[in-house]
Amino acid sequence: INYTNHYFNLSREKLLEVLKNKLSNFRFNHVLRVEKKALELATRYQYENIEQVSIAALVHDYAKEFDDELFINKIKDKALDPDLLNWGNMIWHGVVGAEFIHDDLKITDEDILNAVRHHTVGATYMTLLDKIIYMADYIEDGRDFPEVAKVREITFKNIDEGVAWQTLHTIEYLLNKKVPIYPQTINTYNVWVAKK
Ligand code: GDP
Ligand code: FE
Ligand code: FE
Ligand code: FE
Repeated sequence: INYTNHYFNLSREKLLEVLKNKLSNFRFNHVLRVEKKALELATRYQYENIEQVSIAALVHDYAKEFDDELFINKIKDKALDPDLLNWGNMIWHGVVGAEFIHDDLKITDEDILNAVRHHTVGATYMTLLDKIIYMADYIEDGRDFPEVAKVREITFKNIDEGVAWQTLHTIEYLLNKKVPIYPQTINTYNVWVAKK
């Protein structure tokens, strides 16, 4: 896939080089598998802007291995919601990660940045690009939790049902671990899972 330079000022190959320098091999390979799955979902759901899909998938975990201090400084420097300081890497790498992608990589497309912001915690309203990245991250070919084959099937049948499945199971997993649940994760659950 060739980039037009509308969303990113360099080639896909250059972007891969940048990512290789920021990520462990393990995560770099995850990101490539997310791109592959996201492009499959784009074909299935006729999302035509495959350049946006490729870039969003490749950068979605750009900040995942950054030190906490970098996130704390970014939250303060850009005067982001101060409540973010009460959270950690799990939440930061998407919500605050988008700011690094904007500032370091000069990617300004809000559709791409929002897909990154939403990839861990979801959102009450999700664009098709948001859903594609949220699901591709969860069902990429390296994932091997027990029901993954079933979720892949559901997601290719009806992506909204895939979003609901992932959201419910993430909440269940977090409850069982008794870890804090980010308010936006609960908002996503209320819209995508809860019966009215
Ligand atoms: P990854 O970056 O490819 O590993 O995947 P994600 O960004 O989707 O998820 C990262 C981790 O965040 C997963 O282990 C999720 O279970 C966890 N996570 C998702 N929502 C929340 C939340 O509301 N609170 C906490 N503490 N963790 C969450
Ligand atoms: Fe992530
Ligand atoms: Fe995810
Ligand atoms: Fe990921």
